[in-house]
Amino acid sequence: MQRFFVIGNPVEHSRSPEIHAAFARQTGAELTYERRLFAPGRFAEELARLVEQEHPAGCNVTVPFKLDAAAACGALTARAARAGAVNTLVFGAGGITGDNTDGAGFVADVERRRGARLAGARLLILGAGGAARGLLAGLEALPRGCAEIVVANRTAARAEALAADFAGLGARGCGFAQLPGGPFDIIVNATASSMGGQAPAVPGGVYAGAGLAYDLFYAAQPTAFMRAALLCGAKRACDGLGMLVEQAAESFEAWLG
Ligand code: NAP
Repeated sequence: MQRFFVIGNPVEHSRSPEIHAAFARQTGAELTYERRLFAPGRFAEELARLVEQEHPAGCNVTVPFKLDAAAACGALTARAARAGAVNTLVFGAGGITGDNTDGAGFVADVERRRGARLAGARLLILGAGGAARGLLAGLEALPRGCAEIVVANRTAARAEALAADFAGLGARGCGFAQLPGGPFDIIVNATASSMGGQAPAVPGGVYAGAGLAYDLFYAAQPTAFMRAALLCGAKRACDGLGMLVEQAAESFEAWLG
């Protein structure tokens, strides 16, 4: 029986165990998948103990450990190196390989499930943390890119630095107050604001006419971002549960083929 884990803090809310149990039923794979709460600042020690005592075949890594996970890997896939963050650990004879499946999960959910097109779209990404970086790394893999990508963040300098790293995509960075007018085809909330029950403090006019407002956060009820976007004129809004399922599918494939 192969053992898999999701590591985070907090981690009790994670739906990954349910998702991977469903994949296991669908494919006939024999596995267990459990949550593990790691202490902040102790990722490397706690991972070493997990490896020694519980012999994982693979792990998912969530907030706030994705950068620590990248540092703990002996090798990174190209997309994980580009994202600078790891959400999937693959344990092999040669050591630990880190992958980042968030960007591919986002692309798959937006295009296949939500029926929106990223190719040629005007895209606004709110936030400049690990998730925003993962999305941009996923967009680099698309055969045809977006027409325009704006990265806006509460701390403008972080958005500018992130956009500069992805200048090949034509990304531009700014603060919330400097946001250009829409309409955007797709607006993504990649900030952590929904975790605190708030929408990011962007001018309401930004949402007017948006084809899809997509919150990476997911919850039982529409998030504050989804509500704000719909109130201010976005045509559709959804949360990030579909992305979670799609990034999990990519992890499952990396582990089990
Ligand atoms: P992170 O690296 O900690 O980055 C946090 C970002 O949020 C920064 O840009 C930060 O801005 C911004 N922020 C925090 N609080 C804010 C507020 N109240 N108003 C406006 N901006 C705020 O976090 P992350 O890993 O990128 O995760 C971001 C979100 O994506 C989380 O909600 C996470 O759950 C979600 N996520 C979902 C999936 C999925 O599969 N659905 C996958 C990955 C992540 P400053 O730079 O100004 O501090």
